[in-house]
Amino acid sequence: MNPSNAVACLLAALSLAGMARAEPVITVPIRVHIVRDLVMPKDGLSMSSWVTQEQVRDVILPEVNRIWRAADIAFRLGAVGTAWTRRPPDFRERVDAVVTARRDADGESDPERIRHLGELVAFAPGVPGTVDVYLVPYLGEASQGNTKRSLRRVFVAQWTDKASKGRRAPERFQLSEPGVFVHGSLSRTVAHELGHVLGLRHPDKRDAVDGLLMGGRFPGYALTADEVAKARRKAARLASRQDDDAD
Ligand SMILES: [Zn+2]
Repeated sequence: MNPSNAVACLLAALSLAGMARAEPVITVPIRVHIVRDLVMPKDGLSMSSWVTQEQVRDVILPEVNRIWRAADIAFRLGAVGTAWTRRPPDFRERVDAVVTARRDADGESDPERIRHLGELVAFAPGVPGTVDVYLVPYLGEASQGNTKRSLRRVFVAQWTDKASKGRRAPERFQLSEPGVFVHGSLSRTVAHELGHVLGLRHPDKRDAVDGLLMGGRFPGYALTADEVAKARRKAARLASRQDDDAD
């Protein structure tokens, strides 16, 4: 192939790629903080953080971005590092309150556990437009993640008992789950919580289609067209740092 043919081929390939991608990718900055000195005792376990910075970079972020590619939204890892706990006088009581938090008869998690956790973690000062994900050992019975949207702050648990609905001891959450949804993964939970940061809510289980990232009777990885449009509007505001949480 002579050089001018090579250039023509390259240009053709680029225009094909452009045609395949209808929407420009919106990039949202994210920081991941692994809470290192928090030990949470339950069922004879001493749960602490086990995810490494390399796993955040090499497994979790790529899987999150694979899922969000359906919306042409990419999360760019600005930093991954360690977060530490504060040591209020009632430290142990607050840890116990998180560990023993249960779901109520309707399956709703106890919001108090997040308030206690908020007193235990030394948060990094927020950066406009940037999402902060805190990886903590455990978030209470059958709970894997929680998002405080106004602060763009996400908690994700590294130990889970959701598959047994809390009937068995928590186990280390698998980092990612290849193939179809079975139990989900830590990466999928991060992707789900980022959906909340981007303004998405859980679908109504009565009329939701199956296989959705945001939940339903049979959850999965997909986003509806409405969810894609809503998430992109919010992501664009975050990316431009114009986010005012108006919605
Ligand atoms: Zn959720």
